Amino acid sequence: MSYQALYRTWRPRQFKDVIGQEVITQTLKNALTADKVSHAYLFSGPRGTGKTSCAKILAKAVNCTNLIDGEPCNHCENCIASDNGSLNDLLEIDAASNNGVDEIRDIRDKVKYAPSQGQYKVYIIDEVHMLSMGAFNALLKTLEEPPEHVIFILATTELQKVPATIISRTQKFIFKNLQVKTITNHLIEVLEDMEIDYDSEAVAMIAKVSDGGMRDALSILDQIISFNSGSQVTVKEVEETTGYANTRAVQSILISILNRNLTESLQESTDLQDKGITVKNILTEVIDVLTTMLLAQKDIKQANTTELIQKAQETSQNQLLAMIEYANEALNNLKYSTQQKTLLDVFVVKSVNYVPATGVEDAHIQEELTTLNQKLNQAIQQIEQLKSKPVQQVSTQSTKLPKPSVEKKRRHNYQQQVYDVLRTATKGDLKQVIDVWKDVLKALAPSKRAMMEVSKPVAASPTQVVIAFEYDIWFEKVLDDQGLLDDLNRYLELELKESRQIILVPTAEWPVLRQDFIKKHKSEIKSSNSQQDDKIQEEKSESDVVSKAKELFGSEFISIKD
Ligand SMILES: [Zn+2]
Repeated sequence: MSYQALYRTWRPRQFKDVIGQEVITQTLKNALTADKVSHAYLFSGPRGTGKTSCAKILAKAVNCTNLIDGEPCNHCENCIASDNGSLNDLLEIDAASNNGVDEIRDIRDKVKYAPSQGQYKVYIIDEVHMLSMGAFNALLKTLEEPPEHVIFILATTELQKVPATIISRTQKFIFKNLQVKTITNHLIEVLEDMEIDYDSEAVAMIAKVSDGGMRDALSILDQIISFNSGSQVTVKEVEETTGYANTRAVQSILISILNRNLTESLQESTDLQDKGITVKNILTEVIDVLTTMLLAQKDIKQANTTELIQKAQETSQNQLLAMIEYANEALNNLKYSTQQKTLLDVFVVKSVNYVPATGVEDAHIQEELTTLNQKLNQAIQQIEQLKSKPVQQVSTQSTKLPKPSVEKKRRHNYQQQVYDVLRTATKGDLKQVIDVWKDVLKALAPSKRAMMEVSKPVAASPTQVVIAFEYDIWFEKVLDDQGLLDDLNRYLELELKESRQIILVPTAEWPVLRQDFIKKHKSEIKSSNSQQDDKIQEEKSESDVVSKAKELFGSEFISIKD
């Protein structure tokens, strides 16, 4: 028997087998049962989240002659033909492999003919964002007046590249990244079915490294199984296959750092690199673990080892934040430097050294520090030299310099913008945004989502929303991440069915801005009433201000100071 890739063997054949997208599959089943199938669907979301699987199942179901509760039967003639690719009425076009103008034109010409075998002609267009403008226009013409017997299922990983005119003519479904736990459970199911032994930590690592996509997770598992002639899946194999830093090893480095044991933490980080784990992967995992610790401090149930939680609670928030900043700095500098190891060592040294003097009396450690400081200076020089040269691959954000004027300008920018929002803000608008905010974040890639965990909507008008960030470092980072901002805008628009401009502010600034605005607003009202300068009027205007403020933010926030 020839070998089949796991993701093919385990490709879902019915909606109930699609993992982690229950809302979507249930909606589709309901539509099928009620015979209310739409003429055009758009499935968007990250790779490996089930878009193509759902498209194939839906295409099969609409032509199944024995539909059971919205599920294709998989046994009728049409189901069998759909599954083996011989159904004439089902056409699959991969827009990534050709730009498709001819194929779309061909669809436009043939679309008017009735299906030959089933009830519907179904066109699945994968990676639809890759179509050329010409092809989009041809497709649009067909979508404007689709014949009764035709269904289009468009799939894309990049919704923002699909023209709005196409999007507005389809029924949209956003496929979300799968949770690590969901992927882990499915991998375990696969392994148990194949009767292969596994280490649960290893399976969780595969789930984590696959970034929310089931197909990647199954491919990694495939590689490990074939590597290993199918005997066992262990942490060591996962590390070797993926170059992924073992969370436990990283936790151990961080615990050594927090115990101020420089020699041990440097040794542990060297050991990890000797196993073939890249500095980039180690630093990424370091930031992940530190963020987990930060959240654990705030009592958010995130952390997974008790020693780590304990350590997190003994450590000041500032220290964890500083360490995240050091790791981030090292990560950003990696692309400029050939001295990868040094950058990791610098992170370790700076972190161990966070509180001056007391922890570093040992002469040996002092000596090591001096050498590392020299190396650090070399690395910095090298970085500066590289930075001063024009580097082509470097994106615009890396040219960001911490100039005070820039910071001031930024503050000025959001101050004006926040005032604009507050002028027309209502509690109702804010509630609307808060209600969907979780879903918006869920739609983001995990690394992006982590940056947004410390954010929350604090005010909204019918056209704008203010998002506050607990920590300046995330505020800055998100502000510089245009891709993330685009994603946020897009997902928010999809959830609310209308677009809102997003304005970011640091949480610390928010009460100040709000208070300033209320004060300003108050004087405006006062001045408008100044002609009738009696006490009762003034009291009335005061209560107008308070009620306006309550309307904006809810009563718990209001305390007016003159
Ligand atoms: Zn069937």
